[in-house]
Amino acid sequence: VFSSIEPGIPNEIFALHEEFCNDPYKKKVDLVKGAYRTDEGKPWVLPVVRKTEIILANDENTFHESEHFLGSSEFTYAATSLLLGENSVAIQDKRTLGVQTLGGTGALSIGAQFLKKCLGRSHFYLSDPHWKAYEIIIMQAGFEKSSCYRYWNAEKQYIDMDGLSEDLSKAEPNSVVLLQACAHNPTGCDPTPEQWAKIASLMKKNRLFPFFDIAYQGLASGDMDKDAETVRYFVDQGFELMCAQSFSKNFGLYGERVGSLTIVSNCAHTMPHIASKMINIAEGNYLVPPLHGSRIVASVLKKPALFQEWQSCVKTMLNRIIAMRSGLKKRLEALKTPGSWDHITSQRGMFCLIGLAPAQIEYLRKKHHVYTLENGRMNVAALTPSNLDHVAWSIHDTVLN
Ligand code: PMP
Repeated sequence: VFSSIEPGIPNEIFALHEEFCNDPYKKKVDLVKGAYRTDEGKPWVLPVVRKTEIILANDENTFHESEHFLGSSEFTYAATSLLLGENSVAIQDKRTLGVQTLGGTGALSIGAQFLKKCLGRSHFYLSDPHWKAYEIIIMQAGFEKSSCYRYWNAEKQYIDMDGLSEDLSKAEPNSVVLLQACAHNPTGCDPTPEQWAKIASLMKKNRLFPFFDIAYQGLASGDMDKDAETVRYFVDQGFELMCAQSFSKNFGLYGERVGSLTIVSNCAHTMPHIASKMINIAEGNYLVPPLHGSRIVASVLKKPALFQEWQSCVKTMLNRIIAMRSGLKKRLEALKTPGSWDHITSQRGMFCLIGLAPAQIEYLRKKHHVYTLENGRMNVAALTPSNLDHVAWSIHDTVLN
């Protein structure tokens, strides 16, 4: 039965991770996977997460009963408020629906399924370059077509606003456009408020549907509200939209799969219908979402003291990332490595698109055992005081060769 099966689409991150694990070189550096590391190169359980887990474990009212299909309403209310703001008019008007999902990926996935199955959308637009997983997600949801809109000018290291505008103005009306709200993966470069206003006006004119993805709220500017301001701006402009939210990075809950899909509509009376279709999609995919991670997030977001502690944990991560970015830039400048390295510090979030050609990226990996994605995306959150010298020297040697 199974003998005719061809291999699936390979996942670059897993393939490189395997190569990294089998590499016996002592000073090898893994900058592939997008996960935060401490100065010691270790994963970090946020102290506020550890503390909340203990509180939950000792609470005799914590049961392991399954939740509603759409997840815990305490969690989705907290997640939607974090996204749209405490005083969001859309929330007050009851024009929003939050669905608890299996991470940000799960939110993208059930959102795409809804758009295809319930709204008959067939064409998806992604930024060029984009996070690769989007392609599989939209394919699995049944979208017939996906295209890219220009986003990045690799030579000048900034957003190609002319190309982006031209592509969005020519996009097929009713298409879905994936927009990352902050800390764009992989470029680390976000549009300015003026550029977002232009994008919004093009999308409105061309009747394009905004599907936001926010996987790094807090890790772009350190300010939760600021990092969500683009989504809020689109809502204020009267857009109906979806937004996939991930708590993997800003809570360090990678393996617990905590995410939320927020839907904003312009009429409150359609919300029960949207909810009932979403229930069908959840039922068909996994029935009910998992409990553990969403309990932690809900507990932290709803208690001011824990919320404060969480914000300071996010700032700790962000400050370390910023220090590593400037550490790398300083070293390259001290080595007089040809080229400009300003983009290392001007880009935001966990990634830096270093700007080396694919052959140089291969050289960096094969000769110096520094692993990055083929497009040069490096996880700057995995740089540490002990690997910075090696990484900088390796880039320097790569550029000179
Ligand atoms: N969107 C982007 C841009 C991401 O980088 C990621 C994680 N790499 C996700 C969504 C998905 O997050 P999660 O791990 O919560 O599924």
